[in-house]
Amino acid sequence: MEDHTRIENITIYWGRHKGPLIYSNTFVVDTGLTPVIVDPGGESDDLKKMSEHKAFIVNTHFHGDHRRLNYLFTRSEFFAPEPDAPMLRSNERFIDAVGITDKELREQWLHVVRTIYNITEHPVSGTFADRDDVVDKSFGIKAIALPGHTQGHSGLYFGSASLTLITDIDLTDFGPWYGNSVSDIDAFLASIDKVRSLESRYFITSHSSKIYTRDELLPLLDKFAAHVRRRDTALQELMKAKGAVSLDELATYGIIYPRTSLANNPALHFFEKKMIEKHLRRNGIKTGF
Ligand SMILES: [Zn+2]
Repeated sequence: MEDHTRIENITIYWGRHKGPLIYSNTFVVDTGLTPVIVDPGGESDDLKKMSEHKAFIVNTHFHGDHRRLNYLFTRSEFFAPEPDAPMLRSNERFIDAVGITDKELREQWLHVVRTIYNITEHPVSGTFADRDDVVDKSFGIKAIALPGHTQGHSGLYFGSASLTLITDIDLTDFGPWYGNSVSDIDAFLASIDKVRSLESRYFITSHSSKIYTRDELLPLLDKFAAHVRRRDTALQELMKAKGAVSLDELATYGIIYPRTSLANNPALHFFEKKMIEKHLRRNGIKTGF
């Protein structure tokens, strides 16, 4: 498969997963002058070459897989959703938003973020909110606030191709991811509902290599949202069967991530716990310890 696809004035570089590192799709919009590059999250040589010139870099939210190559674009200006901009400006704020409070763990994460993900702090010249024109009205790109995954998590509507990027409403078999402090399950479900009624001919996510029509998209959104109910039910049944169980223990049964992948992976265990905590709170359940 080609590493990119062109639709009207937009070139989509498909994010490839290599081992444990996650990459996102990147969208390069040819504006005639300075290009707009959305989520430089791939590893394409073309993208690396583009970083030698000025571009307008738009990040849909603060997650590392969507700004993997930001550090190369030293001649560019950056744009981000208003609630997520502080996490691009500061790695400390990034770690706060993830929800890591333990001092030692924060140091470890900051180290990984800097050395493995190459995430650098940098200024953000412009922010956007729902329905705003992104960077410049003439580019025909509109912001769509889709909170839940993160508070600022945004989609984008590319008018020239009637294409909507729904970002990390990514329709995967894993289901919705809401493992940060700033994530919210109900906001995520409301955003999935919002996508159902968006006016757009085509849809695309940040992590799949397919462009969907509305008819293709609607059943996939239902399937994706249903994971929340499935997780709620699995958790309730587990608690019925086990009685009083600590949050630490609840996070070992594989309600969110596959059980086998949790055992030796402290990072996944951390996010499993964060996500279970949100289910418990949402259902008014207290583990008590
Ligand atoms: Zn994300």
